[in-house]
Amino acid sequence: MSDDTPSLRGPLAPEDVTSDSPFTLPGFFDALAEGTLYGAVCEDCGNAMVPPRPACYGCGSRSVVAEEQPREGRVVSYTEVRTAPPAFAERAPYTVAVVELASGARLTGRVDADYESVSIDAPVELVVREPSAEEQKAALSYEEGWPVHEFELR
Ligand SMILES: [Zn+2]
Repeated sequence: MSDDTPSLRGPLAPEDVTSDSPFTLPGFFDALAEGTLYGAVCEDCGNAMVPPRPACYGCGSRSVVAEEQPREGRVVSYTEVRTAPPAFAERAPYTVAVVELASGARLTGRVDADYESVSIDAPVELVVREPSAEEQKAALSYEEGWPVHEFELR
């Protein structure tokens, strides 16, 4: 690709994998901050991956397409964090879950609900917000300004 628009379709050449590409974390989070949740969908096996990867981790194909993902999903697994990293110690205990979105993509995130309120297969929705001052302080330098995602029970 020689124009300025990042490629949304693989196979990607090294020069396609720029910081504004949704196939990189900076590009993925920039798009998320602007309201688009990108995943990569494999054209060979249909596997969906969030955040997008340049190759399918289901079958290894590089024929992947960046597509907006649904925000609704279901809890696959969850746990309660009682001993939090120092920056989030005041939040503990809190709930973290692996969620499968309606597209089949799985991702991990905090659930805005008590552990006792969550269950396997519970319907959730991914919400995106700006990081709090506390989260900004805990962010690594390259993560500054990246939006935060959480799941809410539906
Ligand atoms: Zn695949």
